[in-house]
Amino acid sequence: MDFSLSEETLEFRQTIRDIVKRTVTTDVIDRMHTSGTFASPELNAELGRHGFFERAVPGLGKGDPIELWVLFNELEKAGAPYDGPAVALMIAGVVNALGTDEQKARIMPSIISGEAMVAMGYSEADYGSDVASIKTRAVKDGDEWVINGSKMWTTMAQAAKWLILLTRTDLDLPKHKGLTMFLLPMDTPGITVEPVHTLGTEVTNATYFDDVRVGDEAVLGGVNNGWRTMTTVLAFERGVMGGSNAAVPLLRHFHDWAASMGLLNSDVVRERLARSVIDMQVAALLTQRSAWIAASGGMPGLEGSMTKVFAAEAYQRISKWCQQMAGPAGLLQFHEEGAAGEGFVEYDARHSPVVTIYGGTTEINRNNIAERHLGLPKSR
Ligand SMILES: Cc1cc2nc3c(=O)[nH]c(=O)nc-3n(C[C@H](O)[C@H](O)[C@H](O)COP(=O)(O)OP(=O)(O)OC[C@H]3O[C@@H](n4cnc5c(N)ncnc54)[C@H](O)[C@@H]3O)c2cc1C
Repeated sequence: MDFSLSEETLEFRQTIRDIVKRTVTTDVIDRMHTSGTFASPELNAELGRHGFFERAVPGLGKGDPIELWVLFNELEKAGAPYDGPAVALMIAGVVNALGTDEQKARIMPSIISGEAMVAMGYSEADYGSDVASIKTRAVKDGDEWVINGSKMWTTMAQAAKWLILLTRTDLDLPKHKGLTMFLLPMDTPGITVEPVHTLGTEVTNATYFDDVRVGDEAVLGGVNNGWRTMTTVLAFERGVMGGSNAAVPLLRHFHDWAASMGLLNSDVVRERLARSVIDMQVAALLTQRSAWIAASGGMPGLEGSMTKVFAAEAYQRISKWCQQMAGPAGLLQFHEEGAAGEGFVEYDARHSPVVTIYGGTTEINRNNIAERHLGLPKSR
């Protein structure tokens, strides 16, 4: 198999690099880390204006399928705030696959222009891995649905225009079958957002729903079909839109710092750096495969799980190595004098464990691989 990029894709990549260079300034990266909101309106607007988001919507078929991977890989390698647009494009992919024509016309333009972020509300305080057991209720009242309950870990809710919300609509059906997904504006009356600060810097939220009223136009993918909509989101979330080369900016910062400290002649440092670079290359190839499947209209459920497990564990291992190699300087944070890798060594050591949790934990993804690929018995 030939993984090299065509001339056109190399040009596309160069344009993204130019945009990143222009818009992802030190101030933008600083703002991302101080605010905890991993999105940049300047970068999003520029990528939207070039039509790059529209070209990258999974399954829409506007661009070469490889562009989805190139776009997010470039943003990730640059350390740019890309989580916001990644989630928005995942949801655009779900709207494209399962939404009505009216929903596509109403929702897609705001996402592909780069203007609208989307929050995902499916986990609850007691139901993350076991998301099929969620309790938030949606009850039909005349022409409307009335939603009550609460969600946990609703990342981006503080900046989002749209929310996808998993609810229970039928108590009599088996738990996977009585669920419905809604896609509604975040400013719908009755929604409250409270910030939750995480170890990994990114701010997420607890969200509360108090008699929130929406019409049938908000149902995404059909009533009592929420499980299918949910698995479509997850197929795009795991190992498709970045999240797999997170150690690349760390390695760049660590390498420069180690060179300035005269550490690059150490056998241990050289060996660990070489192993880290190999791991990142393998993670990039795995992502290339799952992103290609998603962009071509497929569902990389299994391939995404494989990518996410490998990449998240490699990132955590590499961050730990960098912190060990840096010694006390690896405990100093951004803007502290003497901080290894300008503070990225300390930041990535905190951020990398979090990546093994969201989008489904490593254990859940291992179960997925064991059951769907190796044919082992179901664990739940
Ligand atoms: C920073 C961050 C951002 C997030 N963003 C979002 C978001 O935007 N939207 C959203 O809906 N959710 C989001 N999540 C939630 C995330 O998907 C859940 O945290 C995750 O699915 C784990 O669920 P839990 O926290 O309830 O842990 P639990 O499910 O309680 O798991 C606890 C431990 O038990 C293990 N475990 C559980 N079940 C099994 C099993 N069957 N087999 C083996 N091991 C098992 C897990 O692997 C884990 O180690 C986010 C989480 C974090 C940390």
